[in-house]
Amino acid sequence: MHSKPIVVTGGAGFIGSHLTDRLLEAGETVIVVDDLSTGSRSNLALAERNPRFHFHACKVSECADLESLVAGASMVVHLAAAVGVERVMRSPIQTIETNLGETEIVLAAASKSRTPVLLASTSEVYGKSSQPEFSEADDLLIGPSTLGRWSYACSKLMDEFLAMAYHRERGVPVRIVRFFNTVGPRQTGAYGMVIPRFVAAARAGDPVRVYGDGLQSRCFCHVADSVEAVIRLMRSAEAVGQVVNVGNDQPVQIRELAERVIHATRSPSPVELVPYASVFGPGFEDMRHRKPSLKLLERLTGFRPRRTLDEILRDLSGS
Ligand code: UDP
Repeated sequence: MHSKPIVVTGGAGFIGSHLTDRLLEAGETVIVVDDLSTGSRSNLALAERNPRFHFHACKVSECADLESLVAGASMVVHLAAAVGVERVMRSPIQTIETNLGETEIVLAAASKSRTPVLLASTSEVYGKSSQPEFSEADDLLIGPSTLGRWSYACSKLMDEFLAMAYHRERGVPVRIVRFFNTVGPRQTGAYGMVIPRFVAAARAGDPVRVYGDGLQSRCFCHVADSVEAVIRLMRSAEAVGQVVNVGNDQPVQIRELAERVIHATRSPSPVELVPYASVFGPGFEDMRHRKPSLKLLERLTGFRPRRTLDEILRDLSGS
């Protein structure tokens, strides 16, 4: 695709490492910048065997040669961020500071060389919207600043505004991706993500803990589909200056998800309903439903994620 390298920040993370593998497979040279705070070197085991792979173990903000790396790159894919509901609730200062500060540095570096940037954002920015489907141009409904969860949405939303500002004022070709729930091999449950937690509990024969009444729903996208969508967006000139949803649009209720995980892993585990307050403290707000509109993604790339939840669970449970 290009002869210049692609810089992937957060490339040792779950989505980043899969993206790195795919880019290398496509013949690209990839430079990963990752401080290994939540990502891990083992995610890059395959990539490390490739001579076109380069690794910088540092935060974006502490990477001494960031400007020259960015100037020499065909694109920066900025995935490095503090993510995961549980982590965000536990460390809100670090979440806000990382998500704002590191993105600012990437955009400032890119503006010097006009290097294109693809910024990872999140479906959290849609907040508590009760629309049946979330579209990129929708109004956003974020909860109050007294509830820590929303700091994540706001930090990523400011990243989006900043990226758009760099696009308009400084001519940086920017693409923004709002990832919906993404799952697959290498995802850890350590920061709150539901499917790896359910699989681990089911495998151990422990109760599978469903928060709330379990009737809330999410759409889960296989990481291979998300990565395919991202690569196509990287190649789409029309995607510059746009915000694009990336996810699957087949919803499942979390209680049903728990049962399907138990079934897929042939586990004797029971499902246990756990009040939100006992996990996150009083006043925690969860969204009832979250489903993307994929019209824009499909129009820009001709692609929509199709791997089913059964395929995802088969991949994770080895059944
Ligand atoms: N959830 C759950 N048990 C867990 C972790 C999460 O029931 O151990 C629920 C969570 O309350 C939410 C859904 O599963 O309704 C998805 O949670 P996750 O943190 O994976 O993603 P979110 O969509 O909340 O960003």
